[in-house]
Amino acid sequence: MDFRIGHGYDVHALAEGLPLVLGGVRIPHTAGFVAHSDGDVAIHAVCDALLGAAALGDIGLHFPDTSDDFAGIDSRILLQRVAALLRKQGYAVGNVDCTIRMQQPKLRPYVDAMRAAMADAMGVEVDRVSVKATTTERLGFEGREEGVSVSAVALIYKK
Ligand code: MG
Repeated sequence: MDFRIGHGYDVHALAEGLPLVLGGVRIPHTAGFVAHSDGDVAIHAVCDALLGAAALGDIGLHFPDTSDDFAGIDSRILLQRVAALLRKQGYAVGNVDCTIRMQQPKLRPYVDAMRAAMADAMGVEVDRVSVKATTTERLGFEGREEGVSVSAVALIYKK
């Protein structure tokens, strides 16, 4: 078996009154992401982890934020396309794990829905997808609720 691992990291700024979409799930909150796409920082980090594992560049290379094609796009579509790209190269997704750093709201109630949404977009079983959430104890930009950061790792393999 040919195993590869990849890492992804993304940040988006928060602003009052915008929709908050994380891991493919709309989450009720007073603030949401300022972004060219829907700003789904969790999916973007996962896409970069998958692309990194396959050494296929990054999300900005495949889906440039200067292109109108991707304005306001549902990031689940980007994740579907990344998974399809990997399949085309002969890779299957072993597992994905991500950590969301966000002060509030508490994300626990949405974690399973995020896992399901991202697994569905990648075309894999839900037990291959892990989502974790943490605050930064009010430290840094995440703690001040100026933005959200997500790091992700992915393992992919060729038989
Ligand atoms: Mg992004």
